[in-house]
Amino acid sequence: MPDILNGNRVRDEILAELKPRVEQLAAQGRPPGLAVVLAGHDPGSQIYVRNKVKACAALGIYSETITPPDSVTTEEMLALVRQLNERPEIDGILVQLPLPAHLDSKRILLAISPENDADGIHPTNVGYLVAGLPGPRACTPAGILEMLRRYRVPIAGSRAVVVGRSDIVGKPVAMLLLHQHATVTICHSRTRDLPAVCREADILVAAIGRPAMISGDYMKPGVIVVDVGMNRLDRREDVSRIFRDSPEKLAAFDARRNVLVGDVDPIDVVEKAAAYSPVPGGVGPLTIAMLMVNTVDAAARRTGIC
Ligand code: NAP
Repeated sequence: MPDILNGNRVRDEILAELKPRVEQLAAQGRPPGLAVVLAGHDPGSQIYVRNKVKACAALGIYSETITPPDSVTTEEMLALVRQLNERPEIDGILVQLPLPAHLDSKRILLAISPENDADGIHPTNVGYLVAGLPGPRACTPAGILEMLRRYRVPIAGSRAVVVGRSDIVGKPVAMLLLHQHATVTICHSRTRDLPAVCREADILVAAIGRPAMISGDYMKPGVIVVDVGMNRLDRREDVSRIFRDSPEKLAAFDARRNVLVGDVDPIDVVEKAAAYSPVPGGVGPLTIAMLMVNTVDAAARRTGIC
């Protein structure tokens, strides 16, 4: 059986290490502060924001959720972000995506000052990432590297293949792996013979958004697989096909009318991989943990404490 890269365990370790830093910051001045802007009514976003606020409360980080009215304009969002940039008790600002279609997401994200960029996606911070300079890193990619480090997965000299080239996952995780001396290939929807490229990987990162697409045919025996995908299956026949009629998964579907699956075939990966991150319980829990890290690091940089 392959080893499981347990994201819940890694998250708990990261948060336990952060707690004394938060206490020190609070004792010597004020706790770190995170502002979350939630516009619109996306149910997924509402759950994510609730979990982020809960994580702040558990650590002693001050948090504030701002929910602008449906009528909010891009100009008003820009003004809101600029006001948050000026507030001394706010170290991190996060604008929850996706924003409603009438808002200009790019302009709004650019308005967050790089120092307050809790998500690590501002172009200035992307530049720091590429240059290997300190700064907030995109949360999910940073969490993946933490997981690989804590499980002592050898990266230097390995062949890493990243499927997906998004700004929030694919590109930054590829750059982080490169900084750790992997030989990195980035794949996307135009890559020719994707299974053959993937089979070269010692470390295979799937960040695609297609349920169970990465089958055994994409995996070299003994590969380390990191599954970033979060796909909700809402058709029983898909659950039945992907999980090969697993009675547990079908019962879970019958109870909740949906089941979560990654971008990697959950049965094939058990047969082929040396280690893999499951969905759920793999990469997912690390994103919020790294958001907390970015917020505490920002407070530390600003105050010069810890
Ligand atoms: P995205 O912006 O939609 O990017 C998907 C990437 O996959 C694109 O680069 C696309 O290629 C590529 N792709 C799509 N179909 C392909 C195919 N058939 N063959 C090869 N490549 C293909 O997605 P994302 O935001 O990076 O998210 C990816 C997945 O990770 C989603 O399931 C998302 O829910 C999940 N996610 C999880 C977390 C977490 O906390 N665990 C965080 C973020 C995202 P092109 O560029 O050519 O279109």
